[in-house]
Amino acid sequence: MENLVEIKNLEVKYQTKKNLFGQMRDIFAVNGVSLDIKKGEILAIAGESGCGKSTLAKAIMKLVDSSSGEIFVNNKNILSVLNREELKAFYQKVQMIFQNPYSSLNPKMKIGEILREPLVINTSLTSEEIDKIVEEKLEKVGLDKNCLKLYPHEFSGGQRQRIAIARSLILSPEFIIADEPVSALDVSIQAQIINLLKQLKEDFNLTFLFISHDLSVIKYLSDRIAIMYLGEIVEIGNTEEIFTDPKHPYTKALLSAVPELVSENKKEKIQLTGELPSPENLPAGCKFHTRCPYVMDKCKCENPNTKEFTPTHNCKCFLYE
Ligand code: SF4
Repeated sequence: MENLVEIKNLEVKYQTKKNLFGQMRDIFAVNGVSLDIKKGEILAIAGESGCGKSTLAKAIMKLVDSSSGEIFVNNKNILSVLNREELKAFYQKVQMIFQNPYSSLNPKMKIGEILREPLVINTSLTSEEIDKIVEEKLEKVGLDKNCLKLYPHEFSGGQRQRIAIARSLILSPEFIIADEPVSALDVSIQAQIINLLKQLKEDFNLTFLFISHDLSVIKYLSDRIAIMYLGEIVEIGNTEEIFTDPKHPYTKALLSAVPELVSENKKEKIQLTGELPSPENLPAGCKFHTRCPYVMDKCKCENPNTKEFTPTHNCKCFLYE
């Protein structure tokens, strides 16, 4: 399958405030990430809160500055300076669904205005043509045109997320980044939204980057999974490879928290101890060494290389070198 997105050695860093001596330090939220996303697939990124997955999403959307590396979308490096027209074309092809449908919709705008706005700004379609697209997309997410005159606060959380999804579809994008799109919703609604995303992917031949900490949702929805820890991808593989033959101790620890998802003969229990270290105090060597039950001396000072198990499955850990 052809790649739609290619990320090469991406770094996103912030600087601390000045200390007493006027010095600042770099804090890496994304640290040397390389990743391909194939046309038509759902690639999930899993990891604990604070591991850098949302920052990675924002870097792809150009919502935060990347400090180095490259991001190619349809073979164009979007980190090079894009002119106004190129930026417009980029945001037509790449859209994002945010975690919180309560804050992602402007409370002062009616749903009709929210959905029409991208088409008014980005196209020269007539008002009738815009109305037709808006109604089509609303119908696709299971809502009807009666909601166009209402404000966001008049809807439930699930309905608001449907509206946010409709807005993400308005410009007929190729690629959608969904950042924890169901974690702010009631459990009873989550399955409906997940099924809706799955259906829309088929209907519109979409490619998804799906960010979540919920491995049950990821198992159901994704084709491949990348496991992220402290700004690095530590393991990546097809969904089946990750769930039936996880390699990295961190992946095993995440899976241990949901034992019903792992096949019977692979239930190696690893209890995660301690908190995720702050990016301000990144451990040297393997970033997971402060919590890893298999830690060796060299893990504390050297960074492991990538070990390939299959053409689709690799991980970074000294246990396999
Ligand atoms: Fe654990 Fe060492 Fe592997 Fe890191 S490299 S995951 S510390 S065994």
